[in-house]
Amino acid sequence: MKSNRIISAIFGTLSLLVLPGIAVKQAHAIDYTRSIPTPARGSINQNLTSPDAELMIRLLGRPGRLTENCSDLTNPQVKRLIVTKDVGPLKVTGLKPAIEALDRIFAQVKQDKPDLYKQIGTAGMLCVRKVRGGSNFSNHSWGTAIDIKINRELDERGDGKTQVGLNELYPYFHREGFYWGAGYSRAREDSMHFEASEELMRRWKAQNRI
Ligand SMILES: [Zn+2]
Repeated sequence: MKSNRIISAIFGTLSLLVLPGIAVKQAHAIDYTRSIPTPARGSINQNLTSPDAELMIRLLGRPGRLTENCSDLTNPQVKRLIVTKDVGPLKVTGLKPAIEALDRIFAQVKQDKPDLYKQIGTAGMLCVRKVRGGSNFSNHSWGTAIDIKINRELDERGDGKTQVGLNELYPYFHREGFYWGAGYSRAREDSMHFEASEELMRRWKAQNRI
């Protein structure tokens, strides 16, 4: 009898210690859409450069017509490299080596951050058009850039802020050689946008993958 009472006393104390911990954990589920300031530009995109349109044209050719909104991809060299694939949380159309990288990125996110993984969506990848507010082709024109939505919400451009979810995805894209649009100049800040960096484009070219 006595030992039973001691055991139940121990379990009672243990449950008091453990249960509040569980309750606290549930109450603090991460809001991945929450807006936070973008990290300082010097602290992101280390060793990576955003490829300009001249370089992209040199490597892959002009994709099509320079239009305001999405127009047809007419370059046969690029067309041959375009694939559509289910990369886990979403189905995307883009340049083959970029799609393969997305596949690896999202597989890793699924393993490390399943709650974030479930909230990943896209606002598009391949789209032949000008940079918004710019004069030359956007990297979406070759299908090497992707815009990410978190829980169906699109981050606002140019406000110097990003979503917690995008900030947490950044290291995965960086590891694969993708440049984060949060590193553009203040007015052009575009943290939903990740694109194959100049370094990655050159590597793909050297490896005959593009
Ligand atoms: Zn974009």
